[in-house]
Amino acid sequence: MHKILVSGCLNGRPIRFNSTNVPVSSMIWDRWAAEGRLVSFCPELAAGFPVPRPPAEMIDSTAHVVLAGHGRVEEDNGSDVTEAFVEGARLALERAVAEGCVMAVLTDGSPSCGTTYVYDGTFSGGTSEGMGVSAQLLHDHGLPVFPENQIEDADKFLRSLADEIEA
Ligand code: SF4
Repeated sequence: MHKILVSGCLNGRPIRFNSTNVPVSSMIWDRWAAEGRLVSFCPELAAGFPVPRPPAEMIDSTAHVVLAGHGRVEEDNGSDVTEAFVEGARLALERAVAEGCVMAVLTDGSPSCGTTYVYDGTFSGGTSEGMGVSAQLLHDHGLPVFPENQIEDADKFLRSLADEIEA
């Protein structure tokens, strides 16, 4: 059984910084759930953040720079939360490895879970291409990461793994 690490807020839990979730309406997702593939995980809760919590963004940094120890993640009140974001990423990777996950489907735009874009560090709604800290660490360890609006692509990847096994 190929398991999939998924952002906890995609799985119905209202755990985003503003106490919301991100609804997913997809027959593929429902099938994955029925097959028992989903491993739900929130790096920020795992790192000890509460719900709700202040929004956070990478400041003049990319996830690569943060993971290399040279960047910063801050809340909109100026608190430096870099260490907690890196710890959340480490815990996400640990969980993915422990569960044998073969890919991840994560909430785009999040400073932890973003896979194609993140907010740009100005807290003004601007975005930039790139990954969140957890998504980057998972990707760097060889786990394909998909945003929640590319579930069909993720399913194609999953099926390609099944084909490899059958071949
Ligand atoms: S850290 Fe990821 S799983 Fe947790 S609320 Fe934010 S986007 Fe969702």
